[in-house]
Amino acid sequence: MEKFHTNTVVIGAGVVGLAVAKEISSKDPEVIILEKEGNIGQITSSRNSGVIHAGIYYPSDTLKAKFCVEGNRLLYAYAKKFNVPFINTKKIIVASNQSQIDDILVIKQQAELNGVENLVILDEKQVNKLEPLIKCVGGLLVPSTGIIDQHSLMQSYLGEYETNGGMVSYNSTVKKISFVNNRFEILVVNKDIETKIICNNLINAAGIFSSEVANSIEGLDKKHVPQTFLAKGNYFSLNKKLPINHLIYPVPEKISLGIHLTLEVDHSIKFGPDAEWVEDPYDYSVNESLKSKFVNSINKYLPDVNENMLSPSYAGIRPITSKEDRVKRDFTISTVENHQIENLINLYGIESPGLTSSLAIAKYVVERL
Ligand SMILES: Cc1cc2nc3c(=O)[nH]c(=O)nc-3n(C[C@H](O)[C@H](O)[C@H](O)COP(=O)(O)OP(=O)(O)OC[C@H]3O[C@@H](n4cnc5c(N)ncnc54)[C@H](O)[C@@H]3O)c2cc1C
Repeated sequence: MEKFHTNTVVIGAGVVGLAVAKEISSKDPEVIILEKEGNIGQITSSRNSGVIHAGIYYPSDTLKAKFCVEGNRLLYAYAKKFNVPFINTKKIIVASNQSQIDDILVIKQQAELNGVENLVILDEKQVNKLEPLIKCVGGLLVPSTGIIDQHSLMQSYLGEYETNGGMVSYNSTVKKISFVNNRFEILVVNKDIETKIICNNLINAAGIFSSEVANSIEGLDKKHVPQTFLAKGNYFSLNKKLPINHLIYPVPEKISLGIHLTLEVDHSIKFGPDAEWVEDPYDYSVNESLKSKFVNSINKYLPDVNENMLSPSYAGIRPITSKEDRVKRDFTISTVENHQIENLINLYGIESPGLTSSLAIAKYVVERL
């Protein structure tokens, strides 16, 4: 079996793995990304809403709050510098009844604690002035929310990484990892050919497969590996252009943000994602029968939409480490302090806002190495 040596291996070429690898390669070009698919971003990173989140919902002491607020600023600056298409659309969280106005006030308070600035409570008239088609009794304007073309973002991370001298090995599935003489020995299978890669630092950014990869590390006590649950989110697209310029969100639900309206950078409109627990990590089909559930939710803030105006679009799967309430779930970044193995970092539960947080997570990981 052929053996290769390198300083650092990153498992996974999603938006987070690429951001981490790019950051590491700016100091040390001896990095290899191992990616089981034939291209970058084929799993969760190309199956999301593409929203640059503000960081408003999460409790202040969470990694999500920290990375989202910091990542939001870093991402806008990065997109401007490297010409990645984005729009600072802003977002309005809309209340459909008076009791939801109280919910919005609580969200505003939490957002301000997290360091999100310039939030504005709007009455019905003010929302209608901004978005005449939207029905509500009031809302919260979030100026730092936007959208980004996630494919261009990943290409840009990859471009920088390769310019720094980093390499990606595609179609390379990590099967088993051993920890021998303070080094990691990684068994990789590429089209039935087995290779061993030996490295000093190992970052597991395998997304929905992170727990599976961590469980394949001999010597890692499995009590430090959380279970990853899968929550599928479906999207429907609107077959019609409507003059809507902000992202429109209902007041959030217990396990997800609720079926919201987001825009693409070409201004087309999509709705979703919903949330359902699933077992199969590869089933991305969108069931047409979900349409009526979508229309019921959408009609609370956009009454003119009916089933004939929606088409099944795509689905993505969130890696989630706890089935608890949405606000109680956090990213888990497991380092030597947790599992006692030096130079190993496992990233678990990097669901939303992972895209927004990618540059902030990368900075944090590099500081920990
Ligand atoms: C429905 C939905 C909507 C979302 N919306 C947003 C949003 O609007 N804004 C936002 O900020 N975030 C959003 N997110 C979250 C965001 O998409 C993720 O946090 C982010 O894409 C995670 O990136 P990643 O690199 O960790 O994982 P992934 O993109 O899944 O990448 C992991 C990579 O690891 C590879 N891999 C796995 N196992 C192995 C192995 N054994 N060997 C080699 N390679 C392996 C996979 O092939 C994959 O390419 C959303 C997520 C979902 C599901």
